[in-house]
Amino acid sequence: MKDKEVTRGELAKCMSSSKLAQIDQMIRALQVLPQDKQRWVVENVFYFSTYGKRYGSRMSRGLCQTKEVIFISEKAFPHVWDITTIESKFFAFLVLHETAHAIRQHKCRIYDAISDDQYNKQEQEATSDAIAWFNDYSTENNIALITEVDVEKYRERLDSLVDEWEWTWEEHLQRAATVE
Ligand SMILES: [Zn+2]
Repeated sequence: MKDKEVTRGELAKCMSSSKLAQIDQMIRALQVLPQDKQRWVVENVFYFSTYGKRYGSRMSRGLCQTKEVIFISEKAFPHVWDITTIESKFFAFLVLHETAHAIRQHKCRIYDAISDDQYNKQEQEATSDAIAWFNDYSTENNIALITEVDVEKYRERLDSLVDEWEWTWEEHLQRAATVE
């Protein structure tokens, strides 16, 4: 039997963000996945974007017990969703990479005490899955394919921007501490 198509509403129910635009972008990233994986996601995963208007939040016991929980940094969200830009492609890649860890039930480096080799193998598997899913979607939708090199190059660029933001935040805190 063919899977019933996963709706935007179903995807929206498996995520939380204080910004509607971010919910929309997470939905769009997950729509890159094949239907059977989307179905798995709505049944098994819950996505959070980290920081927004809420300073703190706690997940309900029910969610913790039954869902894989994935956090996505606000710093990784594209300014505007456009799947042909590297910014949106990287975001989609990131969501798919974390989702691959959940689907494959990968172990945690700290809590499961896995070796560096095991850890690196898991990372490689999640990256390969994410790129394969993305490129299947790209082929169907006439979008340029992505490679690991593209992803790494963009990650480096994003890292340099994030450093700048953190420095600004530090400066902001300093100023806040000195102004009465
Ligand atoms: Zn990973």
